[in-house]
Amino acid sequence: MIEKKLGKQLRGAVYWALALIVIFLVCGGALSAYLYKTREEVTRNQVIAEAEEYKKRILKQFESDSRLLRTFADLISLKDNNDLLIEEIDKFKADNQFLTILYYNTNGQGIISNMDEDTISGADLNAVAPEARQSILLALEKGEESVSRLFESNISQTRVFVYTVPVYRNGEIIGALSASDHIEIFSEILSGDTVLGGGGYIHLIGSQGRFLIKSPKMIVKENIPTIFDGAYLSDSEKETVMTALTNQERLFSHFKNNGSSYLFLLEPIGINGWYLLCVNTGEGLAANTHASALVTQITFLGIFILIIVLMLRGYRLLRNYSRDLLGYAYHDQLTGAENLLRFRQRLYEALNNGGGSVAALSIRQFPFINEIFGRERADKLLCLIKEKAECHLTQGEFFCRDTMDSFYLFFRDTEEDLLKKRIEEFMEDVCRNTDISHKDYRLALYCGVASTTEVKDSEEAAEALMTHVQFALSSAKGHHDSSIWFFDSELHKTEELENYIESHMHSALEDGEFKMFLQPKKNLDTNRIEGAEALVRWHTPQGRQIFPDSFIPLFEKNGFCLKLDMYMVEQACKQIRSWTERGIEPIAISVNQSKLLFFEENYISMLKDTLKKYNVPAGLITLEILEGLALENEDILNERITALQAEGFKISLDDFGSGYSSLNTLGKLKINELKLDRDFLLKASGENSQRVRLIMEYIVKLAETLGISTVAEGVETTEDEEFIKSIGCKTGQGYLYSKPISAAEFDEKYMSRD
Ligand code: C2E
Ligand code: MG
Ligand code: MG
Repeated sequence: MIEKKLGKQLRGAVYWALALIVIFLVCGGALSAYLYKTREEVTRNQVIAEAEEYKKRILKQFESDSRLLRTFADLISLKDNNDLLIEEIDKFKADNQFLTILYYNTNGQGIISNMDEDTISGADLNAVAPEARQSILLALEKGEESVSRLFESNISQTRVFVYTVPVYRNGEIIGALSASDHIEIFSEILSGDTVLGGGGYIHLIGSQGRFLIKSPKMIVKENIPTIFDGAYLSDSEKETVMTALTNQERLFSHFKNNGSSYLFLLEPIGINGWYLLCVNTGEGLAANTHASALVTQITFLGIFILIIVLMLRGYRLLRNYSRDLLGYAYHDQLTGAENLLRFRQRLYEALNNGGGSVAALSIRQFPFINEIFGRERADKLLCLIKEKAECHLTQGEFFCRDTMDSFYLFFRDTEEDLLKKRIEEFMEDVCRNTDISHKDYRLALYCGVASTTEVKDSEEAAEALMTHVQFALSSAKGHHDSSIWFFDSELHKTEELENYIESHMHSALEDGEFKMFLQPKKNLDTNRIEGAEALVRWHTPQGRQIFPDSFIPLFEKNGFCLKLDMYMVEQACKQIRSWTERGIEPIAISVNQSKLLFFEENYISMLKDTLKKYNVPAGLITLEILEGLALENEDILNERITALQAEGFKISLDDFGSGYSSLNTLGKLKINELKLDRDFLLKASGENSQRVRLIMEYIVKLAETLGISTVAEGVETTEDEEFIKSIGCKTGQGYLYSKPISAAEFDEKYMSRD
């Protein structure tokens, strides 16, 4: 039981701990995911902010260059002289960092001013690079400002691009002014160390993914011309990057290098489909957030491991503690034997596999042994019993020590003789080996045994056995002649009933559980029912009917008869009153009176009070006393009888002939009626019947002479009736006429007015 409970508690604790771990893991996971998400979000926002900043700087560069070109275009629109124009262009060229300045009029004739070279006049438009020509034509034909694609300059031998603006005079396009520059002018802008706080770098790429400006800090060491080269992007990533480039959209993606994944942003600049490719290397500022997330994760992991370790330790401690506790809970500390708790558990289990017997063993006068021989020797005796029990029990048998000198032993055997032999041998072994002996004292053990053979419900059977063995033990304790006492179920039932009777009698009387039954008395001359005897029946609330033989002797002993008999007198009076009130001529009712009540001091006054209460004449009440009463105080009895008769009561001597009746007594008692015990009639038809019949005849005759009427009890057959009639008996009572029946049935059967 305890084992199960502890196991359950332990399991409960483990479940709780597991639940806590799960909560902890979920919280940790959620926190970690949140941190990761936040970190990712922060990084992305930071990357976007940085990219936008660099984009702004590049656009600013473009803007300032084109503004410069526009201002110069306004200036040259005023010069219609070619030489003056060349002069202005050369001057402009010398004042700025542009590589080449080109001016073409609408006729396709142009001036080209190159670094370190002489200015060419009358240059053909077809002679310039197609990228530059396209840009110039846009300005000449549509008046659009533009920036050309990158191309290899055959003048500077470097990759360049051109800005072109239209030149207006009087609102009409008269020419196109272009200036070329190295793409590297943006390198300065992009090569800073401050990108993402040192944790990133930026490339400038073209609309097809070609690197226009590569950052010197790039982590990919391979010299690849476009971002699609090498195995840095997966196929799907390549596809999304391509789509984003085509649509000029911003895109976040990842590439792989040396097994690590890197976040990058593609930010369109808005010129020529160029893009900024901003890479986050995870170092610098980003490394800090990454590190803090890592620290958080490690902390969580550390706490998690700590909890697991503590839990395992706690679990082990708890398990050991439970084991110790079970040891204490199941064992007797003095002898080391198992205790009653464990015995009961084992008994349930054992009875599951069939029947068995339990013996409860005690030591006679154990407190005396303790006192005379000392505690130590008494304890030694208890330990000896434990040792011997271990030796005498066989496979599947067990025992325990409860408290003091109380031991219980379970035997597989149920056969009484065999058990008796085994227990005797065990007891003898203990007595032979103990040092508790003295010339005036011999150690004695006693034992109660209860057995069960058929077991349906082992728990119920075990409980019953434990109760029964206690009864057997108390019987053994009370009988010094026999030291082993077997439980007797019949005896136990009687004891049980007595116990019920004693504990319930008061409430039963209050609750009206005692019922008055009536048995008719027949006048054999008139053949009429002229009287009835009130006989008590106990109807329990459980529907059980208990007969007086089961409780009257007990009530006589415990004094409750005083109350019950007076109650019955009252019931008889009530019945007579009821008949009178219904206009039915009442008949006399005989009520049995116990010895106790008969000699009660205020007996007569109590009777008178009851009679008065129901207004019933005393002549209708016959008081039946037992012949045993006459044996003790004849004179006092006669005094009582005379006093009662003076009040009008009739006195009947019941069960005459059942005990030590003597005709002498009959002569001395002043009774009105004599009831011949049922035993007479029984014997009158058996052996010596003639003698019995003769005695009966004489008794009836003697009674008649003394003026005492006779009633024969136990008339069961017509032969009985014939016989009692023949000897002059005037009244008969017995089953031949009726068994005792309830007052209501009696009423209906014998007292109806018809
Ligand atoms: P009792 O006063 O001698 O009552 C007669 C008993 O014999 C009754 O048993 C009755 O049922 C039984 N009996 C009557 N006719 C026959 C028959 O033809 N054959 C057999 N075999 N038995 C017959 P009951 O009612 O069980 O009462 C037993 C005894 O209990 C009574 O013997 C009486 O001594 C006592 N008793 C009954 N009621 C009371 C009561 O209210 N107070 C006292 N003090 N004792 C009572
Ligand atoms: Mg009687
Ligand atoms: Mg009787």
